[in-house]
Amino acid sequence: MTKFGIIEGLQKQFYLGYSYKYNALEFNPAIILTSVKDTVLDYFFSTPWYWIVRDYVFFHLVFKVLSQALTYVRGYGLLRSITELLRYASKRIFGIVLNLPFLKVAVDKEVSKALSGMENDVIKNDDNLIDFAELPSSGLPKTDVLEELDKLNSILHHSDWKGGKVSGAVYHGGDDLIDLQSKAFQKFCVANQLHPDVFPGVRKMEAEVVSMVLNAFNAPSTGCGTTTSGGTESLLLACLSAKMLGLHYKGITEPEMIIPRTAHAGFDKAGYYFGIKVHHVDLISETYQANVKQMKRLINRNTILLVGSAPNFPHGIIDDIASIGRLGETHKIPVHVDCCLGSFIVAFMSKAGFDDVPLFDFRVPGVTSISCDTHKYGFAPKGSSVIMYRNTKLRKEQYYVSTEWVGGLYGSPTLAGSRPGALVVGCWATMIHVGEDGYIKSCKEIVGKAREIKEYIQTEIPELQILGNPLCSVVSFTSNIINIYELSDTLAKSGWHLSALQNPSAVHLAFTKLSLQSAEEFKHLLKSTVDTMKSQPDAKPSSDGTSALYGVAGSVKTSGVADRLIEGFLDTLYKLEPDHSD
Ligand SMILES: *Cc1c(COP(=O)(O)O)cnc(C)c1O
Repeated sequence: MTKFGIIEGLQKQFYLGYSYKYNALEFNPAIILTSVKDTVLDYFFSTPWYWIVRDYVFFHLVFKVLSQALTYVRGYGLLRSITELLRYASKRIFGIVLNLPFLKVAVDKEVSKALSGMENDVIKNDDNLIDFAELPSSGLPKTDVLEELDKLNSILHHSDWKGGKVSGAVYHGGDDLIDLQSKAFQKFCVANQLHPDVFPGVRKMEAEVVSMVLNAFNAPSTGCGTTTSGGTESLLLACLSAKMLGLHYKGITEPEMIIPRTAHAGFDKAGYYFGIKVHHVDLISETYQANVKQMKRLINRNTILLVGSAPNFPHGIIDDIASIGRLGETHKIPVHVDCCLGSFIVAFMSKAGFDDVPLFDFRVPGVTSISCDTHKYGFAPKGSSVIMYRNTKLRKEQYYVSTEWVGGLYGSPTLAGSRPGALVVGCWATMIHVGEDGYIKSCKEIVGKAREIKEYIQTEIPELQILGNPLCSVVSFTSNIINIYELSDTLAKSGWHLSALQNPSAVHLAFTKLSLQSAEEFKHLLKSTVDTMKSQPDAKPSSDGTSALYGVAGSVKTSGVADRLIEGFLDTLYKLEPDHSD
């Protein structure tokens, strides 16, 4: 028995009981029970301790793997568990196959070809521009610098963002605001929130920005928050706070969070940065909201956070926040609502007269944190967002404190150390200039236009199907007749840049103040493009467009290749000139 430890012992006892069954023609559980007891005692008293440790480790691992598998199957259902397992396995296998020497050469060649195309698209230069691979040995006069800036702004071709044809991307509040923000920058150019004693005015403004946003999201009097550098930082901090809360109050060392599949990639990034396992909940097929029942099934003792979006980036759909909040309350798990995109649109919907939006903010009791991007529909300069909490106990968990540092006592509220005070000043100036009436007006205009286009597509373009019932500024659609990515590529030729989505294949348009002027044009362009595409079903799809790219990403055979393309793209951002020249 010593060699195999307890397993062999138990097995023997089982045979014993089993043979009784056949010899004496009866099955005697009492005998099995006593012999099992003997075996266990025998095991503990006569096995060397290191074998007991070995057995313990073995059983612990088996138990862990089994319970994880069970949680998975219980949460996602058998079908999705099996398909995910198969998908994972085939991805691995194809990954290995594509790395076989004779295939690798061919794959590498394709990848470099794609990357060189990408480099030529991304790296733009012009003979009229001066190159600065190194510091100029003597500094340029101010006028030359400004002249160079003008050239950089004008010579290199921009997408037509001013015409409002780029989905999302530029949340511009008007030239008047740009002027105000630039002046605000100039006054507080050197400010740093790390030193509130040196810049007391900036401290006051930051506190007021947080307070104004808390108020817009109906926070209780205990509500609090911090400003951050953008939506992603707000999400990272919400996840960090929840993780630390779980660690400090519940001893959770293997944190997991449950988010909708449609939640922003920033949550997965938080999982990657902070070692949090991320569960992605499926969508309900008609509403495209996260399936809260599945969320409930995925909850276990390691769950540190539940997430909903109001609205989400891909489809502009508001999740069922009331139900997610209830779930969080019942299970005593924090709930984050991502209002990064919704920002000052979703916060002012009811005041703007759209009364079909269910509660999504701190009025839902279980909601513990909310993120709001002031740099989106708040029209603040880029680099500004707010993370809000229901109380200071939650906020404290995102703080970093060091009392031992040689550099002195140190405390920092967010991810950054030094922070650009000028950005908060720009945000503050924008908010008090636009005011509640200004935000209500822009909400009315933007949402009104988005809904008009939504209805137009629903009634006039039967070839396109809207995903769910978007209530705010984003409208996404797919098609069961034409290739939606081809449609997107064709529209891009007319200067319209929609965002491509996947799983399912679709595209969206995020309406901004800028797209108000061109919405009418968009409606008709969309209809005529769809008509043309429908009348030429045999037209050859382009080989380097969105459709080809998402084909590569969506297929398990080539998903490793998609990773390489994205990494290559990121490398490209830091190149002075293309180096994949064929
Ligand atoms: C934009 C956005 C974010 C954050 O993105 P940043 O680019 O970091 O500002 C988060 N969630 C949603 C739904 C968003 O649309």
